[in-house]
Amino acid sequence: MELRPDKFKLIAGDLSLDLVNTASGWQRTASGCIPADDSLADVGDLVSWAVKANVIGEKAARRLVKNAETNDAGASSLRRARKARAAIYGLSVAVATGETPLSGDIEHLEKERRRALEGQRMEYSDGRFELKQRREAEPLDAVLDAVVFAAVELFTSDRAKRIRICGGEPCGWLFVDDSRGRNRHWCDMRDCGNLAKVRRFRKKASKGDGRDP
Ligand SMILES: [Zn+2]
Repeated sequence: MELRPDKFKLIAGDLSLDLVNTASGWQRTASGCIPADDSLADVGDLVSWAVKANVIGEKAARRLVKNAETNDAGASSLRRARKARAAIYGLSVAVATGETPLSGDIEHLEKERRRALEGQRMEYSDGRFELKQRREAEPLDAVLDAVVFAAVELFTSDRAKRIRICGGEPCGWLFVDDSRGRNRHWCDMRDCGNLAKVRRFRKKASKGDGRDP
């Protein structure tokens, strides 16, 4: 297992949606959403993503990867990440398309919110208060707690109205449209945006009126 933070891109403008974007080609089923492609293949990937997203430092990351290699630590956090990701995706798409979210997705995020709260304790030392992770908790769970808090914050804020799905096919990445004109269509102009331009051009060209725009 190695750390490969550069495998991941952060384009969402929100921590929780950036986790969702570790998968793509989502299919919606009655019981929830399932991705066709998943970049979180093992615990090392989840730790690498957390480094990229600045949720943990490299030193802590190396320790987590070592633990995962030697005693299979982090497997439950990886399962937790995948489930939370699917629920956050389902809720985001519902918000973005104006549909009613699945109650299972709402319940799952609410369950996760309570779990994340329980994972914290307030401590006082050196003259100040601090929120710390409970000692018995799986260290990688702190990453998931941060993601869950970010998701709850996003969904309960005005920014929820600006959750968008990338117009690229097949992409499905999510982002918050914080652009000044509220007219962002793509996860990344250099990827899906360009591809769409090329496709439009080809379509035009095949109709016989293709000139470079
Ligand atoms: Zn895209």
